[in-house]
Amino acid sequence: MRTKIVAGNWKMNNNEKESIQLIDALYESIKNETLKNTRVIVAPTFVNLSTSLKAAKNSEIEVVAQNMHQAKNGAYTGEISADMLKAIGIKTVILGHSERRTYFNETDASLAEKVATILENDLETIFCFGELLEDRKSENHFAVVESQISNALFQLEAGAWKSIILAYEPVWAIGTGETASAEQAQEMHEFIRSIVAKKYNKEVADAVSILYGGSVKPANAEEIFSKPDVDGGLIGGAALNVADFTGIIKAI
Ligand code: PEP
Repeated sequence: MRTKIVAGNWKMNNNEKESIQLIDALYESIKNETLKNTRVIVAPTFVNLSTSLKAAKNSEIEVVAQNMHQAKNGAYTGEISADMLKAIGIKTVILGHSERRTYFNETDASLAEKVATILENDLETIFCFGELLEDRKSENHFAVVESQISNALFQLEAGAWKSIILAYEPVWAIGTGETASAEQAQEMHEFIRSIVAKKYNKEVADAVSILYGGSVKPANAEEIFSKPDVDGGLIGGAALNVADFTGIIKAI
C-alpha cells in the first residue's frame, strides 16, 4: 500500500517562536488521531529546522527542508548543503517548488543535479513540478509535466525511486485560491503514474506516492484525496493554520 502524506510547506513564514508554537499546537491537535499509513510533515525555513526538529522530537510530525544546494560544499554564499542538513537530522528535502523555479531560476538541469545529491546522501526528496496557466490553456500541460519529470528524474535507476515522492502542483493553483478539480488532479496523477510505468515498470509506478498541491483546504481536501492516484497533499497557506492543517490531515 502506498504511503499517504500530508506535508506543510511553511515557505518564508514563522520565526523561531512561531515555529515551536505551530508544531506544539499541531501535536496537540492530532495526537489522538489514528494516522494509519500516513506521514505528517512540516517544512520550516532553514534557520528554524534545528529548533523545529527538537519541538517535534517525541511526535509523529516529521520536519523537512524546503531546499538544498547541489554542491558538496564551497563558495556558494547563502546556500545550504546536504551534509549540513543531514548533520542536524534532516532526512527529506523539498526540491523544485515552482517559487524556486520562478524566483530563483531553478531549472530541470539544476534539479537533476540536486536529485543526484539527494541520493548520494541517502536523503529523500519531495520533488515538485507542474504546469503554468498558459500551458493548461494551450493544452500542453501533460507535455510540460512529462518533460519536467523526465529531465530531472528519468536518469535514475529504478531502485532510487524509493527515495522519491512526487508533488504535482499546477502553478496556477498555488496560493491563488483556485484549485484543480479532483478530476483534473486524478487525470494528471494517473498520467504521471503511466509515464513512470512506461519508463520503469508497474511496480515502481505503483509504489511512488504522488501528492497534489495547490490551494488545498479542509473543504476540498476530502474530495481530492478520495481519488485513487492522489496519495496526499503538499499544502502551503493552509499549513500555517493548525485547524486548517488538522482538517486536511483528517481528510486523508
Ligand atoms: C505550495 O506552495 O506548495 C502550495 C500548494 O501552496 P498553497 O496551498 O497555498 O496553494
